[in-house]
Amino acid sequence: MEEFDFIIVGAGVTGLSAAMYGARLGLKSLVLGATHGTELPIGGVITTTNVVENYPGFIRLTGTELSEAIRKHAQSYDLVSIRQEKVESVKAEGKKFHVTTKKQNYSGKTVLFATGTKWKRLEVPGSFEFENKGVAYCALCDAPLFKNKVVGVVGGSDSAVKDALVLAEHAKKVYIIYRGEKIRPEPINLQRVMANKKIEIIAKANVLEVKGDKLMRSVVLDKEHNGSKQLELQGLFIAIGHIALSDLAKPLGVKLNEKGEIVIDHKTSETNVPGVYAAGDVADKPFKQAITGVAEGCTAAYSAFEHITKSEVKAM
Ligand SMILES: Cc1cc2nc3c(=O)[nH]c(=O)nc-3n(C[C@H](O)[C@H](O)[C@H](O)COP(=O)(O)OP(=O)(O)OC[C@H]3O[C@@H](n4cnc5c(N)ncnc54)[C@H](O)[C@@H]3O)c2cc1C
Repeated sequence: MEEFDFIIVGAGVTGLSAAMYGARLGLKSLVLGATHGTELPIGGVITTTNVVENYPGFIRLTGTELSEAIRKHAQSYDLVSIRQEKVESVKAEGKKFHVTTKKQNYSGKTVLFATGTKWKRLEVPGSFEFENKGVAYCALCDAPLFKNKVVGVVGGSDSAVKDALVLAEHAKKVYIIYRGEKIRPEPINLQRVMANKKIEIIAKANVLEVKGDKLMRSVVLDKEHNGSKQLELQGLFIAIGHIALSDLAKPLGVKLNEKGEIVIDHKTSETNVPGVYAAGDVADKPFKQAITGVAEGCTAAYSAFEHITKSEVKAM
């Protein structure tokens, strides 16, 4: 079984950055990223946006350009291995951890969960039935499929609004359907939405049902819009939040909060289990951004280094 000092579950910007720092601290670091089927590519969720303007040092680049730069940086260290493997389980074995993927078994002195989140699904009649038949989650991936169509985005966050802006580059009309009073994007994206003639906000509204035949054709709202509760749409993008991918950590006794996020000490990225760390979108924090995830990932590398060094000193 291959041995590593620092095993990182998740190949998003958080995991890749942690590996780079780990290698610089002399840790033999392994990044395991699930990339098959519906899984995200190496680079993670940031690859689903084509506009990143708030990562310090880069005025504007695509999510893929950012994650690729971080991957190349990590890969430039010999102590870093990046493998496209889905982790199935992480078990404690004495002072070490046994990590199992579909392909292999690994042993690690420390483990970092940088597994991110998955999209929260809209649970109304028809939304599952019409998934990939009009109902979608990744605007950057699917927007070109809705050229000259009328589409909707459910949600009011910055990423929901960015989805609407991406869609407006292809679609004829974009509705932002938001249950609250006011959408909550970054001010700069609010300006862009207000200036975009193709985008219309329907506030204080919820989607009750998705309707269609072979493909989705419309949604039913819980309030009238232009005299009807039925809104003709050929596409509906769901941007109502994310669910932390923390299941793998539970059997280790790692503490989760009420949202299922991994609870960490935000000074060290440590969990309640010695040698186990978490960082990025999977961790318990409100402000989930690339830069905050990267910072936590690098902090976790340093804490893992400290943990290993201390235990080796003790063993002497
Ligand atoms: C549309 C959109 C736009 C955004 N725009 C911005 C922006 O402009 N600026 C900004 O700073 N942030 C932005 N964000 C937020 C930012 O993308 C995230 O905060 C950040 O990328 C999270 O990185 P992460 O590495 O923690 O998680 P992720 O990128 O989600 O990476 C986690 C990785 O772990 C993998 N994984 C999960 N389970 C397993 C397993 N069992 N085995 C192996 N691998 C596994 C997943 O496949 C994934 O690749 C945006 C997010 C979205 C959705």
